[in-house]
Amino acid sequence: MTKICCIGAGYVGGPTMAVIAHKCPSIEVAVVDISVARITAWNSDQLPIYEPGLDEVVKQCRGKNLFFSTDVEKHVSEADIIFVSVNTPTKTRGLGAGKAADLTYWESAARMIADVSKSDKIVVEKSTVPVKTAEAIERILTHNSKGINYQILSNPEFLAEGTAIQDLFRPDRVLIGGRETTEGQKAIQALKAVYAHWVPEERIICTNLWSAELSKLAANALLAQRISSVNAMSVLCEATGADVSQVSHAVGKDTRIGPKFLNASVGFGGSCFQKDILNLVYICECNGLTEVANYWKQVIKVNDYQKNRFVNRVVSSMFNTVSGKKIAILGFAFKKDTGDTRETPAIDVCNGLLGDKARLSIYDPQVTEDQIQRDLSMKKFDWDHPIHLQPMSPTSVKQVSIVWDAYEAAKDAHGLCFLTEWDEFKTLDYQRIFNNMQKPAFVFDGRNVVNVEKLREIGFIVYSIGKPLDP
Ligand code: NAD
Repeated sequence: MTKICCIGAGYVGGPTMAVIAHKCPSIEVAVVDISVARITAWNSDQLPIYEPGLDEVVKQCRGKNLFFSTDVEKHVSEADIIFVSVNTPTKTRGLGAGKAADLTYWESAARMIADVSKSDKIVVEKSTVPVKTAEAIERILTHNSKGINYQILSNPEFLAEGTAIQDLFRPDRVLIGGRETTEGQKAIQALKAVYAHWVPEERIICTNLWSAELSKLAANALLAQRISSVNAMSVLCEATGADVSQVSHAVGKDTRIGPKFLNASVGFGGSCFQKDILNLVYICECNGLTEVANYWKQVIKVNDYQKNRFVNRVVSSMFNTVSGKKIAILGFAFKKDTGDTRETPAIDVCNGLLGDKARLSIYDPQVTEDQIQRDLSMKKFDWDHPIHLQPMSPTSVKQVSIVWDAYEAAKDAHGLCFLTEWDEFKTLDYQRIFNNMQKPAFVFDGRNVVNVEKLREIGFIVYSIGKPLDP
């Protein structure tokens, strides 16, 4: 029986391995992590992450051919194929701080693999890493163990949180990069055989290592760039009376452009887009490509601009101050159908409003109170003023309450800010909400989630990103 081990039981490692176990009953899959809390949760009824469809897949395989364990060394030493899906955040100090990827977790995983391996291994980069990382990993592995053959493959993950299971069941493509040697090609075939259990052959793309590593950064950079492009257009829409939804619809009908990923918003978030573009910027700078680095930097600058101007819009609309005013924050996750708040625009928007002394009442159906308290106690990365992590002042902490119902959040509020596009926000009883709010009652829709006309008829003053302003 082929044995797979995945180091890192996070948003990527957990779901990808659950799907491999589900689709390949003949393969034994162990997902290991140094976090006892995470592994305990994976072995319980309360999985550590919220992802539609994940519970069912895990429940079907757990204990049969899918195992979650903290015994990292045992499972690594027994595996034929080792996926490494550890976190690769942005470095916060030292050389490349604020841009380069922090490969500390990767390096320690590689050293541990070298320490415990007694047979040949295929080591798969599942994490998103800078191009050329495989070269460094190869060195660490071969210099630290004798007589063992390691083949390094790059197999970046393209799933999107919120649709992870669907994406893994029917991927647009699976990308495998490897060395062009005979052994490298054999390793590619071995990994291809795993995916061939359910992915059609024409969707499995094989490349050299560097193309695969760079393709992941390229994909995220292009996706984020598309969001910043639409958001830049939303600013122009507001200045001219055009409607960004109508523009996106019209533009997306062009088959060269396509309709997906053309929604204007308060900005992109998530643990990947900003981190991977910063990483790309750093790689460009290291290669002396300043103009190219500046091009990608602009994607992040537009994103920051979009978040800042949203805060400014809220404050200026509410008579130039939100001091002491109650503002309901509806949605805190970085997108719908996930409880993930990493780099969510809600953090910057909330901090901006707290800076002007607003009182916030926050509701999100999947985000916990602990997450929100933790996120708001950290100041985020500021491009022009690195390096971050300043604790929030004790007064700010008192300005925030976290509630478990949108109506409760909106009660007595002066304004509502929609920061995540949860479906449930489309069907709230807005008349009831309006009746219980301070007047004038403001709505600031950062996700184009509400029906602007309907809300205006009720009496709300509505601002929605990229839409014509309240007449
Ligand atoms: P995560 O933080 O949710 O999970 C990483 C896990 O690795 C953590 O649970 C951590 O405890 C564990 N870990 C770290 N070092 C370890 C070690 N030495 N031994 C065992 N466990 C260790 O991160 P994630 O969101 O799953 O992302 C993982 C990688 O995948 C990142 O490189 C990310 O850029 C990439 N990626 C993420 C997504 C996404 O949507 N989250 C999508 C595609 C790719």
